[in-house]
Amino acid sequence: MSTHRLALVAHDNKKQELIEWASRHKTLLSQYDLVATGTTGKKLNAHTGLAIHRYKSGPLGGDQQIGALIAEGQLSALFFFWDPLNAQPHDPDVKALLRLCSVYNTPVACNLATADLLVSSPHFLR
Ligand code: PGA
Repeated sequence: MSTHRLALVAHDNKKQELIEWASRHKTLLSQYDLVATGTTGKKLNAHTGLAIHRYKSGPLGGDQQIGALIAEGQLSALFFFWDPLNAQPHDPDVKALLRLCSVYNTPVACNLATADLLVSSPHFLR
């Protein structure tokens, strides 16, 4: 079991994509401490069986809770499948979360291709 903590977040139109991605990488992901926003975590657990600590739903503050982990140095990487085609009520939180990844140099994958690259990199957190 790695000591690294990974966060998984997907907007509604991207949840299926994240579930399929997590299913493909289930063996790897199961070696990490996983956290997610509320609905994402619930669906991921239901479809993959992965143990995931769930924060609040994104629009209710979950993105900010994950941002707080980054600010506290308690998150190693973020997989954030945000929806580029629809407006989100919590858009300021989405921006804030992405901003903190840059402030703290936290690896963040915002789409399938980057998520695949990140976990297959020899530099990925072990
Ligand atoms: P959800 O939140 O997992 O509770 O749907 C995701 C988000 O909108 O950030």
